[in-house]
Amino acid sequence: DAAGDPMHFTPHDFRRIFATEAVTGGLPVHITAALLGHKRITSSESYVAVFQDELIRTYRSHLAERRSIRPAAEYREPTDDEWREFQQHFALRKLELGTCARPYSAPCQREHACVRCPMLRVDPRQRNRLAEIASSLRERISEARHNGWHGEIEGLRISLQAAESKLVALDRQARNTPTNLGLPHLTPRN
Ligand code: SF4
Repeated sequence: DAAGDPMHFTPHDFRRIFATEAVTGGLPVHITAALLGHKRITSSESYVAVFQDELIRTYRSHLAERRSIRPAAEYREPTDDEWREFQQHFALRKLELGTCARPYSAPCQREHACVRCPMLRVDPRQRNRLAEIASSLRERISEARHNGWHGEIEGLRISLQAAESKLVALDRQARNTPTNLGLPHLTPRN
């Protein structure tokens, strides 16, 4: 070993060495599993030692292969304008209530109605501001009802629901409790 002492091998070690060399040498793991007499691939996977240098080598060769099939034009240097636009991109995503998470270079498709938008990631420090917006929406709904502005009520109500659900999500996040999605279940066919 590294200290110069004799190594002690058991028969199982030879199986592990064989599996590691076979897989890192390119033999598919399901073939290795068949050679080892394993019924399940996961048994063979636990035999395979993953070394740091092997990990890096495999990842680099994966990247090289991906790059070889991409058009060379995509590897050009960005222009000054593109670089400037990229740097400004993150600053332009800062909103009153948090951050806009829409994909890079995608336009806003919701007319900047951020309170209603699922792309808005509310900054927890802006909770009070969001609560004020919700409270103001409630007052505006009452005022609209009082004055008979029925055309306003539906829009305000949708904004209020969105604001309230964002407040609930913020509070849930603060308590750090996982969301219970329930268990999937089979429903009988008609
Ligand atoms: S409405 Fe949605 S997509 Fe548009 S700026 Fe606001 S958070 Fe972003």
